[in-house]
Order: sequence, then C-alpha cells, then structure tokens
Amino acid sequence: MKDNRPVAFDPPTAYNTSMQTVEPISISMDSRRPLLEVAPDDLAAWLRERGQAPLRTRQLQRWIFDGRAVSFDQMSDLPKRLRDELAASFRLLGSDIARHLVSSDGTHKLLLRLRDGQVVECVLLREADRRTVCISTQVGCGMGCVFCASGIGGVVRNLTGGEILEQMLHARRLLPLDERLTHLVVMGMGEPLANFDALLEALAIASSPRGLGIGARHITVSTVGLPNRMRQFADLGKQYHLAVSLHAPNDELRNRIVPTNDKTGLAAILDAADYFQTKTGRQVTYEYVLLRDLNDLPPHAGELTKLLRGRQAHVNLIPFNDVEGLPYRRLTQQALEDFVAILRSGGVSAKVRKRKGADIDAACGQLRRAALTASELISVQGV
Ligand code: SAH
Repeated sequence: MKDNRPVAFDPPTAYNTSMQTVEPISISMDSRRPLLEVAPDDLAAWLRERGQAPLRTRQLQRWIFDGRAVSFDQMSDLPKRLRDELAASFRLLGSDIARHLVSSDGTHKLLLRLRDGQVVECVLLREADRRTVCISTQVGCGMGCVFCASGIGGVVRNLTGGEILEQMLHARRLLPLDERLTHLVVMGMGEPLANFDALLEALAIASSPRGLGIGARHITVSTVGLPNRMRQFADLGKQYHLAVSLHAPNDELRNRIVPTNDKTGLAAILDAADYFQTKTGRQVTYEYVLLRDLNDLPPHAGELTKLLRGRQAHVNLIPFNDVEGLPYRRLTQQALEDFVAILRSGGVSAKVRKRKGADIDAACGQLRRAALTASELISVQGV
C-alpha cells in the first residue's frame, strides 16, 4: 500500500498501513493499576501515606493531561523517589497501541490493546482547525444493528472510565505539540449509554480544564436510542450534544435494522430526544445510515421528513460503509441526492457525513473485526 503519511506528523509509534500484518498479542501480566483507574481520593490517600503534599495530584494530572508524559520518569518536577514509588505501584497507561493506520486523508486509526488482551478502536480526524477524536465505550456491542461491524460478535465487556480516557490520550499524542483535541465524538464501538457511569466519568475529565479541556459543547454522544438514559443524560445539566441513530422512519423498518427497537419503539425515543432538546436547549442530531434499497428510497425520505419536521432536528446522513461478510450495499449518488433534496424541501436540515479514512477501515468496529479474523487475535477473544 502506498504510504501517504502527512509530513506534519511525527508520532512516537511506528506506522503500519498494511492490513496484512497483525501483531501477535501478548496479554499483560503487569498487575500494577493504570493511574487513570485510580479514584482521585485513593490517589490522594496514597500520596498522603508517603508524606506528599496535596499539590502532587495536580502535578501528576498536568503531566498526564498537558505534558503528554509516557513514563513517570519524565515527570521532572516530582522527586526521584516519588517517581520510583509511583512506577512500582502504578502504570501510567493500561493500554498500548497494537496497530496504527494512517489514511491518505490524514485520518489516523488506532487499535488499542487493553490489559486483558481485548482490543478497541479509536480514530483521530483532522479537518481545518478541528481535531476530533472518535472513541469506543465497549469491547464489541450488544445492540446488534444489522449493518454494523461492532455488533457482529456481541458485547464482550464495558470499558472502564480510564480505558475510555486513555483512547483520547493516545490520539492526542499523535498531534504536534502546538495542537490539541478540539472535539470528541463517542461514535466508536459500543453503546455509550449502556456504559453510562464510565462514560460520564470519562467525559467529566475530558471536558474539565484540569483534564483535556475539550468544551462540553464539542462533545457528542451517539446512541442507538435508550430513552431512560437519554433523559438522564439531559438531566445532567451539561452542554454535551446528543446524536440519535434513527436509520428508519417507522417501527416496522427500524425493527429490522435496529433490533433493540422492538422493545423501545420510535415514539419513546423521539419523546426522550424532545425532552433532551427542551431540557438542554440543544438541537438533537439524528443519524441515518443509508442502505441501498432498504431505507434509502424517496418514500422513506418523505416519512422521515414528516417525523422530524417541526422538531428543529438536524439529520446526519451516512452512506453505508461496506462491511465484509454483510449483505448491505452503499446507496447510489443519485439516491443520496434525492434523499437529501426531499428532506430539505420538507424543511428538515440535513447533511451528508463526509467519508473519512475509508482506506483504513475507519468505520466503527471494522478494524477490530479485521484483526479478530487473524488467528493470533482469535485466540484471545473472550479472555
Ligand atoms: N451505539 C451508538 C454508537 C455507534 S457508532 C449508536 O448506535 O449511535 C456511530 C454511528 O455509526 C451510528 O449511527 C452507527 O449506526 C453508524 N455505523 C455503524 N456501522 C456503520 C457502517 N458500516 N456504515 C456507516 N455507518 C455505520
């Protein structure tokens, strides 16, 4: 494969743009807890026991979130003995990079290996002055949307708050020092609202000035539509943005594409989305993956228009990204243009999501899936 690396990048890890090689996985026997898994109070107590002043916590945070430290030894304003003690008790990060792919459009995709050998994906997108990281919240996904690679093997486990945050740290380390992450989208593997507490823990640190300082308004959580959780999310009083994966304008069709719809139903999801909008004052985005001849026809666009007209909603249309082994196809350019035109002429705001990182399997769950089909990784599935 041609190496199209953008020259501006000088990341610390080796690139690997070939889809052929998958490194064998070594399951870590390291029993030290990753620092981000340690509750702030526990860390404060640990420092206190060693006679350290409370300001040490802030110093550590600075190194992790501003200083991009990769080892305790780099933390030059901490006493050497403390650095040694920290290294004996904790690991700075629990995950490491199993694969790193770079697309010709500058999109980076990381396959991260977690402590138990499981792998998750995160993506760094660069566009104008935006630096967006797309993160996962679960290993696999339990929602079973028929077209999605993440759900094919079901959900293996939830990620911890620390594992969710570490994806952002790995992605940020790919940026030059004078750049920072400006946007966060929770649109990787998994259903974020099904891992609610860990998600909120990670978002709180991501949006804190003491953490990554990504403005809450620049953080988007995408959900399959879990009404109770959507309401709880609204009640947080935060400025986070909510995107709802609709994919069909009626229950009959949505039940076929999004199996969880059978129990929830569109009406309850739209009610919860309306609640979110009223409560937070923030417009809800509806995502709609277009699958050829299944949900991409003019009557579908008409029905969707009726459903969303008067809701001040915005629709993000996503042409299906091919997933090997699945029978769905991308829609034609003409069908896409017609679909958009129908929505817009009905007064519904709609945009087509730009395709990024197509040459590196950047769509959710695809890289992990490609990796899992390699025998080295199959052996650790379910560890
Ligand atoms: N569970 C969350 C996050 C999933 S990923 C949710 O359902 O919203 C974010 C978006 O990518 C979802 O809208 C999802 O339906 C979409 N997606 C998944 N696989 C895709 C594919 N192969 N092509 C295009 N979009 C896909």
